[in-house]
Amino acid sequence: MKVLAPLSLGFTTLKNRFVMGSMHTGLEDHKRDLPALTRYFVERAKGGVGLIITGGYSPNRLGRLTPGGGSFHSKSLARAHQDLTKAVHEHEAKICLQLLHAGRYSYHPFLVAPSRLKSPISPFTPFAMPGFLVRSTIGDFAKAAENAKLAGYDGVEIMGSEGYLIHQFWSERTNRRTDEFGGSLENRMRFALEIVRETRKRVGPDFILIFRISILDLVEGGAAPEEIVKFAKELKRAGVTILNSGIGWHEARIPTIASVVPRAAFTKVTAELKEAVRIPVIATNRINDPLTAEEVIARGDADLVSMARPFLADPYFVLKTAENRVSEINPCIACNQACLDHIFENKKASCLVNPAACEEQDWILTPAKNPKKFAVIGAGPAGLNAAIRLLEAGHTVTVFEKSGSLGGQFNLAARIPGKGEYQGSIDHWVSEIKRLGGQIRLNREIKGAFEIKGFDEVILATGVKPRIPSIPGSDLPHVHRYDEILSGKVAPKHIIVIIGAGGIAIDTASYILHQHSEFDLDSKAYFKHWGIDPTQKSGLIPNFKPARTRLSLTLLQRSSGGMGRGLGKTTGWIHRLDLKRSGVRYFNSLSYESITPEGVSVVLKDGTKKLIPAQQVILCAGQESEIALKEVCEKNGIPFRVIGGAKLATEIDAKRAIREAWELARP
Ligand code: NAP
Ligand code: SF4
Repeated sequence: MKVLAPLSLGFTTLKNRFVMGSMHTGLEDHKRDLPALTRYFVERAKGGVGLIITGGYSPNRLGRLTPGGGSFHSKSLARAHQDLTKAVHEHEAKICLQLLHAGRYSYHPFLVAPSRLKSPISPFTPFAMPGFLVRSTIGDFAKAAENAKLAGYDGVEIMGSEGYLIHQFWSERTNRRTDEFGGSLENRMRFALEIVRETRKRVGPDFILIFRISILDLVEGGAAPEEIVKFAKELKRAGVTILNSGIGWHEARIPTIASVVPRAAFTKVTAELKEAVRIPVIATNRINDPLTAEEVIARGDADLVSMARPFLADPYFVLKTAENRVSEINPCIACNQACLDHIFENKKASCLVNPAACEEQDWILTPAKNPKKFAVIGAGPAGLNAAIRLLEAGHTVTVFEKSGSLGGQFNLAARIPGKGEYQGSIDHWVSEIKRLGGQIRLNREIKGAFEIKGFDEVILATGVKPRIPSIPGSDLPHVHRYDEILSGKVAPKHIIVIIGAGGIAIDTASYILHQHSEFDLDSKAYFKHWGIDPTQKSGLIPNFKPARTRLSLTLLQRSSGGMGRGLGKTTGWIHRLDLKRSGVRYFNSLSYESITPEGVSVVLKDGTKKLIPAQQVILCAGQESEIALKEVCEKNGIPFRVIGGAKLATEIDAKRAIREAWELARP
């Protein structure tokens, strides 16, 4: 495979084309977390990745992302990193430190930026940097790079995209300066170019210098394609070894890494950059499987492929690729639920499908001393993961599933446009159970004790069933549960009211809106849906008007606040925005009177009665646990444990379900 071929940089060689892209984990910020951070990187180095880029470290205190965020301005910290880099090098991987000055994205009150312009996603207004501070910051980047060299890093990545400080200087959107760092293109490039030149001077020629350049801004006031090419050529001249592709400002209202983005959606834009600069370039965003990575390299779109989240999901991604064990790769589903959402909540990153990420030392699997015979009831994420972990520990496992399909709630999620990745997890889990010698029995509903006779222990992972609210008329023939719609059993009509406005209501609305569209199929359809045109300034279609639905779709909720409030910070806005732009209506703070053949009769917050017309009413009113078997086990003295939605239905949550499944195999 071309993606496994080495890449010579002249003074050094990368052993393959896989880059573990920079991602903040929360372990960067404190010296006390260095051992955990080391284990995290070593695991990925053992897993065969060619180049690792750390999470972002600020070159000085002002540029830190949070008040206690990591910075690399001290030599003593650099020395403390020497064990980390040595341990990574023992596995022949290279490692670069990312230098990131957050500028106006800093989440502390002393933030600085080229101009006094507040970001729409930040609560604080930055101070405009006086000239002397601009100069000293250039020096701080170079000093921090020198510290990285002292720490044993093979290079640095200078973060110049996604709307951070260097990008803020380079962009007209955020730079209103009138000195030599503002105004003309030459002046706006100066900050970045001086950082690169100064850094190269300090670290010498044999040190990898990656610059992450924004190849698509996706916000008004962004750069034109010819300006980006000019900037890239200047960066090359200033001493950059590799250019990495940055996509979109953090404040852009276009999804760039969520699962609604098709795989490798942006690599054609990277290919344009490669053609223009003729130094190694890295393609990024939504590359999560070996085949896509291979296609990107084989097509010549890029020299290297960067993946961040897929290495959280599976540290051994590259090794499994090289050994032709691709079905053993635990795929990242681009949900962001345990990685980026955690970081935004100021928690340590983890991974929904791999609870061991960033906690490697806590999840070392020890073989069971007394192997047992387990019956796992239910083949959703909890049941399937329980089976895998128990099999890995040396137990014997049979999974019983009452329906004819595997995956539980993931099986429904995989049908939502933009969530097709969920099917990859189901396929992987099933293939692992088979590889490890487990048995799966479909269409087997366990009702009595005699059916589980002979098993030492039962794992109840029976999941949830949709709640039927006690609204008069809920039993009328035009009223359906969400699973009937998502499974394809019942076709959606044209005038629809959804009872509920939580995560599943939003997913159901999205399914109805987009069931015949192909917006997540390839980059062309996705660009059209979100108004992207890489040939235009900012990468945006001028005067773009999103398509509006011809359906009448209304979501209802008794509580106040927005729809989908339980959704994650990094993805919830995408679903809300998509529904709003499409013309979906939403009423909250209401009470239900009844469902009638004409629609849903409600009383609004101000006391007025309203009939919301509907040909079809869909119930998305939360869940209840499926725990009928619990009593059977209790009565018959059968040892059992309950996990996932069967344990707690109020908050069906695959992250918790999978974690509970993994915990079963702990000694
Ligand atoms: P949910 O988010 O808790 O929402 C339940 C909805 O049902 C609420 O709108 C609630 O509104 C309504 N409801 C509850 N009891 C009701 C009753 N008796 N009568 C009428 N309405 C009632 O639950 P969910 O939508 O089923 O989702 C389950 C979990 O999966 C959630 O934690 C959700 O975040 C998660 N999920 C996540 C994603 C994702 O993309 N990350 C996608 C889908 C689901 P009122 O009670 O105010 O009327
Ligand atoms: Fe991927 Fe989700 Fe894991 Fe993040 S939490 S690494 S997006 S699977």
